[in-house]
Amino acid sequence: MDIQPSQLLERCPLCHEKYGTGSIQLLGGEGKTQTFHCACSACGHAMLSVVFEGSGWLSSIGLVTDLQADEAQKLFKTPTITSDECIGIHTSIEQNSAKICQILLEQAQTPRRVTKRKTP
Ligand SMILES: [Zn+2]
Repeated sequence: MDIQPSQLLERCPLCHEKYGTGSIQLLGGEGKTQTFHCACSACGHAMLSVVFEGSGWLSSIGLVTDLQADEAQKLFKTPTITSDECIGIHTSIEQNSAKICQILLEQAQTPRRVTKRKTP
């Protein structure tokens, strides 16, 4: 069964206006799952929508985003973070927490430069 995004993603969930022509873009998919970027011209918000196809049913999950369609396309193509990478960064932060705290404290204590704007 082909997923027709216009049937599932007909209206903006935020302002309930119909999506205009060309405002729904397929970012990609795998198996029976497809991801769309939906931009609402009425309210200016955008949404990422993941559409799942089951045996005789369709379901979707939406996530409001500030990404433009081209940014979402670029993000969609980047490799996913692996569980090993997550564990690695967690371990690294844990092992270096004292250094990280020291750097954050130093930055918090450093007076920020105040720049004066030039008057026209
Ligand atoms: Zn809207």
